Amino acid sequence: MTESEDLAEIRRAVQALCAEFPGEYWREKDRTRDYPGEFVDALTRAGFLAALIPGNYGGSGLKLDAAAVIMEEIQAAGCNGASAHAQMYIMNTLLKYGSEEQKRAYLPGIADGSLRLQAFGVSEPTSGTDTLSLRTVAVRDGDEYVVNGQKIWTSRAEHSDLMLLLARTTPREQVEKKTEGLSIFLVDMRQAVGSGMTIKPIRTMMNHSTTEVFFDDLRIPASSLIGEEGKGFRYILSGMNAERILIAAECIGDAKWFIQKASDYAKERKVFGRPIGQNQGVQFPIARCYAQMRAAELMVHHAAQVYDAGGNPGAEANMAKMLASEASWAAADMCVQTFGGFGFAEEYDVERKFREARLYTVAPISTNLILSYLAEHVLGLPRSY
Ligand SMILES: Cc1cc2nc3c(=O)[nH]c(=O)nc-3n(C[C@H](O)[C@H](O)[C@H](O)COP(=O)(O)OP(=O)(O)OC[C@H]3O[C@@H](n4cnc5c(N)ncnc54)[C@H](O)[C@@H]3O)c2cc1C
Repeated sequence: MTESEDLAEIRRAVQALCAEFPGEYWREKDRTRDYPGEFVDALTRAGFLAALIPGNYGGSGLKLDAAAVIMEEIQAAGCNGASAHAQMYIMNTLLKYGSEEQKRAYLPGIADGSLRLQAFGVSEPTSGTDTLSLRTVAVRDGDEYVVNGQKIWTSRAEHSDLMLLLARTTPREQVEKKTEGLSIFLVDMRQAVGSGMTIKPIRTMMNHSTTEVFFDDLRIPASSLIGEEGKGFRYILSGMNAERILIAAECIGDAKWFIQKASDYAKERKVFGRPIGQNQGVQFPIARCYAQMRAAELMVHHAAQVYDAGGNPGAEANMAKMLASEASWAAADMCVQTFGGFGFAEEYDVERKFREARLYTVAPISTNLILSYLAEHVLGLPRSY
């Protein structure tokens, strides 16, 4: 399958931008655990983070396949798209379920970079993967909602102006189906921090700017509600398909980076008087990772096509995420093995990318939960949890 010239052009443009942010830039950010603000600004200025925003709100109105190409190329260039990917995948919920007034209020600012939509508050410390047990509540009080509770792993909260927040608006005991009674809010964090919202960074094995967020009688205007009260879980599920496809595309980019790095190194590095890549024991793992990556890539493209055609890509998005994250992790491991000792040295970037790539078989959804989804919803096996 050949790609359209439009997508190929996007790839070239992202590659040119990423070339301005070489390994040394990322190594320094990794060492200091600083947010790569310059990189995110450059992506914003170039319009890449507004790819999905329709033209009449200042974006370029592209489809998810184009957004996937952008995220893939960022990773394939050795950069870290986790610093900015949420803006792409959160967007879907606002575009699909936001009111015209909300879209007019926020989208042009997000498109021109004056507003950052980078924080997505779903996970909580006690509920884990069981999202429907989340405990953060938003209680209506006149023209406002009062939010109490806690989120964890809310990445980029310190570098975002807006947060898409999932909270319970009707107690679980009072709803017929447990998927009801959750609502989605677009919270203006500029007013919230210090007035009921507290953000605490969590240090992780890679530079990810993730945090815990505490809500203590935070008052937000009732107009922050997206769509209908109580329907938030349904809205967020649709957004999660976009999230999975985009993360899967990032994993494909990572796998390509590892495979390229390993191939180049295996050609150059001479041991016993010949390139290590001449040994089948070195070249076969690289070739195997290539085949695994290409197979996963097909599923990512297919999932994006189903999404863009307006279908329900639940199974495809999940499979794309699982296969691509496994392909990138296999490639990461292979790359370290190919580099031998140098795979552990900072200056080659392999160890940094290795740490960064590890995340994606766990987040935003772990492999077990994807397998459970496929078993239950595609194969008709009994629900296991
Ligand atoms: C760096 C980082 C960034 C993140 N960013 C965000 C973010 O921006 N916003 C956000 O909302 N969340 C974010 N997350 C949270 C992420 O989505 C969760 O960590 C992920 O969904 C797994 O949930 P958990 O950590 O609660 O694991 P748990 O639910 O506690 O699960 C632990 C393990 O048990 C397994 N398990 C649990 N139940 C079952 C079952 N029924 N069957 C089989 N296996 C099971 C899981 O697969 C997993 O391996 C982030 C996480 C990390 C680490």
